[in-house]
Amino acid sequence: MASLSPIPNFINSVWTPSAATEALDVVNPATAAVLAKVPLSPASEVDAAVQAAEAAYRTWRRVPPQERIQYLFKLRQLLLDNMDEIARTITEENGKTLGESRAEMQRALENIEVACGIPTLMQGYNLEDIAPGIDELMIRQPIGVTACIVPFNFPGMIAFWFLPYAIACGNTMIVKPSERVPLTMQKIFALLEQTGLPAGVVSLVNGGRATVDALLDHPAVKSISFVGSTAVARHIYTRGSANGKRVQCQGGAKNHVVVMPDADLEMTTKIVSDSAFGCAGQRCLAVSVAVTVGEAQGRFRDAITGMASTLKVGYGLDPGSQMGPVITPESKNRIAQCIEQGAKEGAKVVLDGRAARIPGYESGNFIGPTILDGGSVNGALAGTEIFGPVLTLAHADDLDQAIHLINSNPYGNASSIFTTSGVHARKFRYEVSTGNVGINIGVAAPMAYFPFSGWKDSFLGTLHGQGRDAIEFFTDKKVVVERWPAEWSRKF
Ligand code: NAD
Repeated sequence: MASLSPIPNFINSVWTPSAATEALDVVNPATAAVLAKVPLSPASEVDAAVQAAEAAYRTWRRVPPQERIQYLFKLRQLLLDNMDEIARTITEENGKTLGESRAEMQRALENIEVACGIPTLMQGYNLEDIAPGIDELMIRQPIGVTACIVPFNFPGMIAFWFLPYAIACGNTMIVKPSERVPLTMQKIFALLEQTGLPAGVVSLVNGGRATVDALLDHPAVKSISFVGSTAVARHIYTRGSANGKRVQCQGGAKNHVVVMPDADLEMTTKIVSDSAFGCAGQRCLAVSVAVTVGEAQGRFRDAITGMASTLKVGYGLDPGSQMGPVITPESKNRIAQCIEQGAKEGAKVVLDGRAARIPGYESGNFIGPTILDGGSVNGALAGTEIFGPVLTLAHADDLDQAIHLINSNPYGNASSIFTTSGVHARKFRYEVSTGNVGINIGVAAPMAYFPFSGWKDSFLGTLHGQGRDAIEFFTDKKVVVERWPAEWSRKF
């Protein structure tokens, strides 16, 4: 294993070995097997990618939108044809189940499909005769070299919140995958290469912090799209915008669901269980706290504990596994400490996954579904993103109190309500301060034609990923006021 050479970057349509002096192991979180080495690419390699992207931009922006999207149609088909292999790679490096990996790639495909509408979506608007004989038009133009920096928890999907829109609008894009899961993007870029996209339109640069900082500091990079933790989002937003770039940063989360006494218990329990424990809780839309209102408390606690305790934890490639491991041993330790913290703050650990041992995978980072009942609603844990398979149960006397609890949380990524009452549902939708809201939905993930809309500490910027926001983010508006006097046709 020590002889593995680091995976290459993809710069100017050439698979280029990195000259990095440091490389990290890419480790299967279920088996602890080293799958590959990932280079921490230096600034010089970022510069090479930016130069290729800048050169490509000059001609790519002139390619008609209708022709630009033909590459996306090809990519969509190639992704479909290679779905099994990509899903397998996601599971091997990230740990989620094969079904979850396929579902993630389905979301990637949907973003490509929406971006194929660019010839319509990118249109501006105009008005004749704003004054006699004078017309005014707004044209959208691409902005140039763009970059996206993405997290470990969706190795395939998240770059697609940005990349199809960026390039369909006539920009070029550099992708910096998470150094913990860089292999999925290797596969996806091999398919991008097969589409025949002109050299430099898309580039892949592997690395970590220094690679990101080189992108943030490079004067030719016009925009940064980031998804990851809030602490890093703050750094990226501050440094990127200080350097004059357009920046959008989707950060961390602490999502709540409210379970009303009138909720359909069976449906609610199943959906909340999937939301809390799917992808081992490593989803920015995972529910972290279930707030029961009134008499929902006892029956929901019993039902969710019963359901969570039946989940089959195992290797994502093994059929029948319903929940995989968390990403690293450090994550596992951190999650265990969060559980300990919850207990210290008065919660009862009604289901404890810390001792999970999976036969045949003793070296994996497994932690079973865990439920904390009660504990301080103002304690340290209440403001901490756990990002693991841990559900906290809190209680409120009424819906107002439940909404207050959510609105007091620093994060605002998502929240949901489970109820059979339209009155409760509307009040919740109206008053809650999160950008994505579910009503009888556990993971309120916006479809590709809607913005992925976190609020508060879950988002820094103005325009979100996906859909119309992406078109707005990846274009500049140019307004033209023009006069063509009719008498010139006689004079000239
Ligand atoms: P992370 O913030 O550690 O890393 C994200 C990216 O930033 C990676 O590419 C990483 O290389 C880079 N990075 C890390 N530290 C850096 C630093 N100091 N300077 C510059 N770059 C740095 O996030 P993660 O652990 O990979 O992913 C999990 C986090 O992502 C969670 O907080 C989760 O909520 C969040 N997330 C949010 C959304 C959303 O839409 N809001 C979606 C998915 C994940």
